[in-house]
Amino acid sequence: MKDRITPEFIAAIPKSDLHLHLDGSLRLKTLIELAREAKVKLPSYSEAGLRKLVFKETYKDLPDYLHGFMYTCAVLPDLENLERVARELVEDNAAEGVRYIEVRFAPQLHVTSSTGVRDVVRAVAAGLAAGAKAHNASKAVKSGEDVPFHFGMILCAMRRFKKGMSPYFADMLRLMEHAPKDEIYAAASLELARAGVELAKEGLPVVGFDLAGEEAGYPPADHWAAYQYAHNHFVRKTVHAGEAYGPESIWQAITQCHANRIGTALSCSPRT
Ligand SMILES: [Zn+2]
Repeated sequence: MKDRITPEFIAAIPKSDLHLHLDGSLRLKTLIELAREAKVKLPSYSEAGLRKLVFKETYKDLPDYLHGFMYTCAVLPDLENLERVARELVEDNAAEGVRYIEVRFAPQLHVTSSTGVRDVVRAVAAGLAAGAKAHNASKAVKSGEDVPFHFGMILCAMRRFKKGMSPYFADMLRLMEHAPKDEIYAAASLELARAGVELAKEGLPVVGFDLAGEEAGYPPADHWAAYQYAHNHFVRKTVHAGEAYGPESIWQAITQCHANRIGTALSCSPRT
């Protein structure tokens, strides 16, 4: 049996990926191209250089790992770019034999002064759908030799944010300048939960609500209202927990956030 489970066998069997970050999965070639177009400064403009400096094999801690998202997120507040990286993500997964993905991303990070959460989610859905459609139009799928590709989207609220992370978050911090920070983070989460429910009702494949970002010092229980809202509207819930904030964050995720699934940040596998 052991001899039969080879890398080739694993590549060939249909698989699912339920923990897949859109902004953690950009092709390096695409990141470099989009960064050049958008004049985003990267620490290196070669794939080897980025692998050495940012998208490494191992990381010192969670903030070290999350550092890379700063660059990928800088090129994503553009609907065409979002659609492109979503389509490429399907292509890359399909090539690896993956046939079902749940793609998670934080729409509020990619909103600009001229777009909203709805636009961002629609752009990602369009890219995923285009990739799936291309795969599903193949002769192998049509003849039943191959498995069709399906996908869902998980919307991530952020545990905390700073004004430099997106115009959306900058506006929230400016407009709620007298509120404690944890209340502002919680307000953004609740707003995203509401958006997710509405977008799912519109027919977009929103399959879950998540909480992402730096864990230490930012307990999931602060986002209770958002999770309660998602729960009350039959949206499934996942929480990044237990990676950098101890077992109590998993306890909170289950007892206060109604988590159907626990995700840890380092269980993500950046394609970069
Ligand atoms: Zn993750």
